[in-house]
Amino acid sequence: MPEIYMDNAATTKTDLRVLEEMRRYEEYDYGNASSEHRMGIRARQALEKARAVIADSINAKPEEIIFTSGGTESNNLALKGAAFAVRKNGKNHIITTKIEHPSVLRTCEWLEQEGFKVTYLGVDREGFVDPQELERSITKKTALFSVIHGNNEIGTIQDLEELGAVCRKKGILFHTDACQSYTKTGLDVEKQNLDLVTLNAHKIYGPKGVGALYVRKGAPLTPWQHGGSHERGLRAGTENIPCIMGFAKAVELAESEPKRIERVSGLRDRLISGILEKIPDTELNGPRGERRLCNNVNIYFKGVEGEALACLLDGEGICVSTGSACSSLKLEPSHVLLALGMGEVKANGSLRITLGKYNTEEEADLAVEKLVPLVKRMRDISPLYG
Ligand SMILES: *Cc1c(COP(=O)(O)O)cnc(C)c1O
Repeated sequence: MPEIYMDNAATTKTDLRVLEEMRRYEEYDYGNASSEHRMGIRARQALEKARAVIADSINAKPEEIIFTSGGTESNNLALKGAAFAVRKNGKNHIITTKIEHPSVLRTCEWLEQEGFKVTYLGVDREGFVDPQELERSITKKTALFSVIHGNNEIGTIQDLEELGAVCRKKGILFHTDACQSYTKTGLDVEKQNLDLVTLNAHKIYGPKGVGALYVRKGAPLTPWQHGGSHERGLRAGTENIPCIMGFAKAVELAESEPKRIERVSGLRDRLISGILEKIPDTELNGPRGERRLCNNVNIYFKGVEGEALACLLDGEGICVSTGSACSSLKLEPSHVLLALGMGEVKANGSLRITLGKYNTEEEADLAVEKLVPLVKRMRDISPLYG
């Protein structure tokens, strides 16, 4: 049976050119970037080249990029680091939203236990944060606002420029988790007034276990991991050069293939209209068009259990999921869909399909073709439908 991978928001296939680049740094240039000899110098030069590539891609300076083990670590460092750094100035308030990734939500809950106050902003029916509501929730004690740029479940892309302007006006730090949006939609730390940006590699055809945190020069940040003086003292530990080089290669490849975005949004729209036209009682969750991630499809199927539908699709060789990979092992309705105002039944009746550059039109059509009889079969035996 052919396998079709349509869960690219969970992770992506590593591009073979990325693997080739990584292999060089495992096999030949495997020195420690802190060593003084020639191998160390070569490793250091490679590291600084990668740093410049990542910095350039978001209009930052190389010294403002800190390499980490991925999105989760970057989010932890950004939030805990900033919260503890500003506490000495008497600030103890953080603002985020109800539709964040668990690595932000669980970190904020931990900070609450440590005595910080956290406001979780709601969103509208398409998942957008209201900048005026953000402005109203900022107090003299507010340190930071953290928002997910492109949502991993419903694809909503926040207007960072607008939200960043509010943060600048009120003098608070601005953090975004850009793991899903990176290389898919514009990120510019100057234009968007960003102080902290979370990035990772494995959502963009790079290796798992590597990411970065952009830290604006002068932004207060308390290090969280102690040891050597790597990464400007903000993240101790020998740099993972092979993965970092693979990360930079993945970014360069994305920049050299700008048509990727257009092609993937074409597949997205083909899949959305195919499902909505061929299957009755279905609705798209999240926004349409430019304000939606090019690879995200999230659809409510009336009278169907999303988790069961994903399981049946898996039986047909099609890999999709219902939401964030981190929460899909427990059968709770998605916190993101609930935040859009959907009830539990509707939230549980939704399916997420996320496309990537390796998907084809034939695969999109096949997914619709397989969905039609599966949804019908589930509805025929469902007490919720009819
Ligand atoms: C995947 C993801 C993360 C976690 O990144 P890891 O590198 O897997 O730790 C954080 N935020 C978002 C939005 C993600 O999609």
